[in-house]
Amino acid sequence: MGIPAQNARPPAAIRVGVSACLLGHKVRFDGNHKHSRFITGALAEYFDFVSFCPEVAIGMGTPREPIRLVGAGSGLQAVGGKDAQLNVTRPLRAYAGMVAQRIDDLSGFIFKKDSPSCGMERVKVYQPNGVTVRSGTGIFAQQIIAADPLLPVEEEGRLNDPGLCDSFVTRVYVYARWKALRDAGITKSALLDFHASHKLLVLSHSTEMYRQLGRLLSGLDRISLDEVADTYIARLMQALGTPATRKRHANVLQHLLGYLKNNLDASHRTDLMHTIEAYRLGEYPLVVPIRLLQHHFSSYPHPYINRQVYLDPHPQGLKLRNAL
Ligand code: SF4
Repeated sequence: MGIPAQNARPPAAIRVGVSACLLGHKVRFDGNHKHSRFITGALAEYFDFVSFCPEVAIGMGTPREPIRLVGAGSGLQAVGGKDAQLNVTRPLRAYAGMVAQRIDDLSGFIFKKDSPSCGMERVKVYQPNGVTVRSGTGIFAQQIIAADPLLPVEEEGRLNDPGLCDSFVTRVYVYARWKALRDAGITKSALLDFHASHKLLVLSHSTEMYRQLGRLLSGLDRISLDEVADTYIARLMQALGTPATRKRHANVLQHLLGYLKNNLDASHRTDLMHTIEAYRLGEYPLVVPIRLLQHHFSSYPHPYINRQVYLDPHPQGLKLRNAL
């Protein structure tokens, strides 16, 4: 079943960066790993992971003295947990700078949480009085994120949250498609086409951004294509970064139902309406109304719906919508 949404097809290999310890590599300070079964199992079926261990890469060895963050803001320093004279900030920054120049082929990055090198947010920062504040970003992660602010990034712990996981994987696929479009050369019609395929996906995340993107593209004759394209992808990624709610999904599902109203008989329409309402109330996961709609659209195809990424934003094999 399922509709072959032509623009939902991802590029052949989607490359995603990952902290090496999450793949099971024994690179942690204590000689251990932090293997994530979700990453090496389900996600590895679809992503080509490119692993990085910044601390090993700068020659710290394994096992090694653990490091911690001290200082504040852009002045954060990575120093030894026991020997504060050990300061590896400069080599970590140099390595991150080198990697940052080579991430153009990545469509996402999964960081190890809490790490003074790889942590994406809320990493402990030690104060002179010994108190810790969870306000830091790892030295390596900081530079990767700054090098490509559009790059979808997430921590492995947050991937346990179905909404955050769906948002991350969706953004990875959208960003991979965007890069393919960019590499082929963005034209006005290609940009409009890209947007047409992503309309319902955006609508499921933000009605306001759905309107904003429509207005932005309507100015294509007045504003330069490059400028519109840059603004477009920045806003699109921003919108998709906020997990879609049940209420928004239910609105989009109702919208989809509207495209079938002239084809379905009363009992099928009622059945669909009840299924959507049951989803909205939390009785079914999202996959149930989606599959039912796809079943009907396979009997009554519609060119606009056929191309909607919303129906299959990521591979069905990941089963992410079974938990939404
Ligand atoms: S968190 Fe980063 S630096 Fe630490 S072991 Fe994992 S990959 Fe290496």
